[in-house]
Amino acid sequence: MTVCNIAVLKGDGIGPEIVTECQKVLEKVCEQENVTINWEEAHIGGEAIDCFGSPYPEETLQICQAADAVLLGAVGGYKWETLPGEQRPEKGLLALRSSLNLYANLRPALVYKPLKAASPLRSDILGDRLDILVVRELTGGIYFGPRGKRVNAQGIEEAYDTEIYNKEEIRRIAKVAMQAALGRSGKIISVDKDNVLESSRLWRQTVKEEAEKVSGITVQNMYVDNAAMQLVRNPGQFDVLLTSNMFGDILSDLASMLTGSIGMLPSASLGEPGKPGVFEPIHGSAPDIAGKGIANPLATILSGAMLLRYTYQLEGAAKRIEKAVETVLENGYRTADLAEAGCNKIVGTVEMGNLVCAQLDA
Ligand code: NAD
Repeated sequence: MTVCNIAVLKGDGIGPEIVTECQKVLEKVCEQENVTINWEEAHIGGEAIDCFGSPYPEETLQICQAADAVLLGAVGGYKWETLPGEQRPEKGLLALRSSLNLYANLRPALVYKPLKAASPLRSDILGDRLDILVVRELTGGIYFGPRGKRVNAQGIEEAYDTEIYNKEEIRRIAKVAMQAALGRSGKIISVDKDNVLESSRLWRQTVKEEAEKVSGITVQNMYVDNAAMQLVRNPGQFDVLLTSNMFGDILSDLASMLTGSIGMLPSASLGEPGKPGVFEPIHGSAPDIAGKGIANPLATILSGAMLLRYTYQLEGAAKRIEKAVETVLENGYRTADLAEAGCNKIVGTVEMGNLVCAQLDA
C-alpha cells in the first residue's frame, strides 16, 4: 500500500475552509486507490506570526522538507497589513518556495465547458474545451540577475536588470515541460525572444537539444510578443507552454484570465525530482469572504489532483478528481463566485466539497 506524507499549511482567511475540502476529496480518492495519507499540519503566514512570531517558523520548514508534498491554502489578511514588509505573511510564501528550491511553476488554464460564459473571450474563439499548461521557470532570469542604479557619464540617472540563464537551469525546466507534455499531446510551444536576446538563443538551443533526447515530443518556438497575441487570437493551438521566469509571469496571468474565474485555478511549484513540491490555488486568502462558508474550494481541490499527479504519478486518481469537478459543474452547481444570473444551485464551500466527493462515489 502506498503511503503519502503530506504537509498541510492551511494559512489565513479562507485557507482553512478550502484546504479542508481538498483533504476530504483526497481522502476519498485515495481510499478508492488503496493509498493512505498521513497529514502533518504546520503553520504559515499570519496565523504563524500570531503563534510563533514568524510567517515561516523553523518547525514548518522541517515539516515541509520532510514531507513528500506540501498542500497550501493561502496567506495574508487585514490584521497583518500594517506590519513592515519583511514581517508580512506573504514573506512566508517566498521563504517556503526558496527553502524547497522550487524552480518550476505549473499553472493549468482550463476552461470547463459549463463555465465558458465566465471567460472574457468569445465562445467561438475558446472552442469546446481550452486546456493550456503553462510551465514557467521560477528561480532564474531577470528577477534574480544583477541589478542596480547608477549615474552615467552624462550625469543622467539610470537603472538596469540582467537576464542570465545557464544551460543547466534551462535544461531542468525543459525536462519538466517534456515530462508534462508526455502525459498530454506531446506538443510544446517554447516562448523566447531569440531575434533579440542572447539568453533566448541559449534557451532555444538548449530546449531543442533536450527535445531531441525524448521521443514523442515536438517543440515549436514562438516569440513572446507573438505568444501574447496568439493566446487571445487562437488559444486552442497551445497545449504545454514553456517559458522563462519573466515571460511566464506575464503570459501565465494572461492565460489564467482566459478562464475568467480565479476560484478555479490550481498550481504546482516543483523542485528537484523526489523533493517536495507545493500545491496551491493561485488566488489569495480572500479576507473579504473568510469565515462565511462561501469560498470556492475547487482551485484547491484541483491543486490536490496536481499533487497526486506530480508527486505520486497517480494519474488515474488525478483525472477522476478533475472529472468529478467537471461533472458537478455540468450538473449546474456553483459557488457564489461562479454563479451566473438565474442560477438556482448555489452552494457553499462544504457542500461543494461534498458534491465532488459524492461524484467520486458515483
Ligand atoms: P484574493 O485572491 O485573495 O481575492 C481577490 C478577490 O477574489 C476577492 O474578492 C475574493 O473574495 C475573491 N476570491 C479569491 N479566491 C476566491 C475563492 N476561492 N472563492 C471565491 N472568491 C474568491 O486577492 P487579494 O484580495 O488581492 O488578496 C487578499 C490577501 O491574500 C492579501 O493579503 C494578499 O497578499 C494575499 N495573497 C496571498 C496569495 C497566496 O497565498 N498565494 C496570493 C495572492 C494574494
